[in-house]
Amino acid sequence: MAGFPIEDGFPAERLFKERYSYTYDDVIFLPHYIDFPADSVQLATKLTRNLNLSIPCVASPMDTVTESSMAVAMAALGGIGIVHSNNTSSEQASLVRHAKSHRIPFVSDPIFMSPSDSIDSADDFASSPFILVTESGTRKSKLLGVVTKSDWEALNGKEAKVCDYMLKSPVTVPSSYDFEQVATFLAAKKLEFVPLVSEKDGEVVDVVTAADVERIRGFPAALGLPSLGADGKFMVGAAIGTRETDKERLEHLVKAGANVVVLDSSQGNSSYQIEMIKYVKKTYPELDVIGGNVVTMDQARNLIQAGVDGLRVGMGSGSICTTQEVCAVGRGQATAVYKVSSIAGQSGVPVIADGGISNSGHIVKALVLGASTVMMGSFLAGSNEAPGAYEYQGGLRIKKYRGMGSLEAMTKGSDVRYLGDKAKLKIAQGVVGAVADKGSVLKFIPYTMQAVKQGLQDLGSSSLQSAHDLLGSGVLRLEVRTGAAQVEGGVHGLVSYEKKYF
Ligand code: 5GP
Repeated sequence: MAGFPIEDGFPAERLFKERYSYTYDDVIFLPHYIDFPADSVQLATKLTRNLNLSIPCVASPMDTVTESSMAVAMAALGGIGIVHSNNTSSEQASLVRHAKSHRIPFVSDPIFMSPSDSIDSADDFASSPFILVTESGTRKSKLLGVVTKSDWEALNGKEAKVCDYMLKSPVTVPSSYDFEQVATFLAAKKLEFVPLVSEKDGEVVDVVTAADVERIRGFPAALGLPSLGADGKFMVGAAIGTRETDKERLEHLVKAGANVVVLDSSQGNSSYQIEMIKYVKKTYPELDVIGGNVVTMDQARNLIQAGVDGLRVGMGSGSICTTQEVCAVGRGQATAVYKVSSIAGQSGVPVIADGGISNSGHIVKALVLGASTVMMGSFLAGSNEAPGAYEYQGGLRIKKYRGMGSLEAMTKGSDVRYLGDKAKLKIAQGVVGAVADKGSVLKFIPYTMQAVKQGLQDLGSSSLQSAHDLLGSGVLRLEVRTGAAQVEGGVHGLVSYEKKYF
């Protein structure tokens, strides 16, 4: 083959120089050379200049995606959740505080009563076989006792106050116990459940049952260490805006222990954001701040110069988003991630590819094109850990998922993200929809990450850094897929099929 020039596919630099805006589906990588097993691929990455994650996954700051449960699960997996700000600052701070009080990978929803309450019917045990009795009858006070369904059933005078027959001073464990410690304790003491109680004030942080332990043990093992902050607690992020009032919100969040803040704006290249970045860096030098959203090199340069520690990339690529349709502004997400990463990389600022992720292939594309993490909304919104209850729609179990720029969400306050809070007429840049039930993120994220490892292996990349290096040096090659190539690349030509990923 001597003298035969090998020129196959295109280096990213050349492909993205063309005049098109490419989405993830438009492009495809050509395979490279494999000399290591998929299991040895390292997904450890950076969220910001100073914060490391074991997996490149970030849950979106949206009110149908990230509250305490999602933040806890993502941190337990080695990723992070960003708690949304479509609430009051004290509500948001309490979601952050609640998530950070956990060391187990889920948040339970126990029933509480006060000592003078009585149990009316067996329905009171509908969602749990035990009731926790605390001084005030809420989670936020000292645990006094426990009533189990069988205790109540054995009772003669059912109208008795719970304090008359509850099990006083029940066995508890400190809330600092991690999942394995709680599981070992439950097994050793042969208990069905144990409350986790704060050492500081005796408040109930959570309850773990033997059934929970069995359920979690049935999930695939997490692929890395949990994300812990310098405080030794789960790492949790929070979104804020760029208004004067957000400075007070920020103070609440810092007091609650937020490890990073995201300036939540659909067009981040603004004087408001630049001022806010400077304010955060000056007032809380230890706190990392993520700016955005941006999709161009110019936008990115401005925020980098202002001092951001991370950049969130995407405009109009979100599944619930109508920005490109309404405002004619945005960029194909593959192009946006590549362009912004190529400038952010020069300053050591990690990029979060935000929006448009609907399968593991999209995650591989985002990461190889230069992102250090992906931020996901719709991909996580159908999980147990997303806020809201499951409903049925046409026989399908679904959860509601809405854009923060939908009229419904903006009515609650998220219009600041779209600079619509001062406008007389509100214009929606998002929709309200629903996504299918996906079960627990503790189960499907490990499978998804295994698929990402296989994608990186096909590309001969044993880590995200190696993928970025191979792309930058032109070793990794891409092509644009024609419409027919995209059809060919999906399942086609079958009368029917069932898609199961794991
Ligand atoms: P997804 O993962 O569902 O494709 O996209 C989630 C991302 O869409 C969020 O992280 C956020 O950047 C963006 N987003 C959330 N709500 C809206 C909205 O109502 N309008 C627009 N334009 N973008 C949204």
